[in-house]
Amino acid sequence: MSDCIFCKIANKEIPSNMVYEDDVIAVFHDLEPQAPVHVLLVPKKHIASLDAAEFEDMEAMGWLLHKVKDVAKLLNLENGYRLVCNCGEDGLQTVPHLHFHLLGKRKMTWPPG
Ligand code: AMP
Ligand code: ZN
Repeated sequence: MSDCIFCKIANKEIPSNMVYEDDVIAVFHDLEPQAPVHVLLVPKKHIASLDAAEFEDMEAMGWLLHKVKDVAKLLNLENGYRLVCNCGEDGLQTVPHLHFHLLGKRKMTWPPG
């Protein structure tokens, strides 16, 4: 999608601090980190949100989730981490391209705000 910021990052049209990529996903540092480690995992295909994911997206989404542990290992999150997906208005999703926040290197709190 031409005017989507995460599509542009995935296509290298705008810079990011990329930590991992393959044919299906890109992983880059969040611009406004909420933890000492805060990266975003996105499918390279434009999917607007978890709500917008189609059956045909299942393989890419499964691959993304499968790669979480590898990215966590790459970032030395051996003590654990949190994976967050904000969806829609109540979920406070601000970028309409599906993404999962991977946060670590601090003790999280529960319940989330
Ligand atoms: P969400 O509020 O769940 O939609 O998360 C969007 C996230 O994208 C926020 O944590 C932003 O800090 C982050 N973000 C926005 N623009 C960029 C960018 N150009 N590079 C990296 N992270 C970004
Ligand atoms: Zn996009």
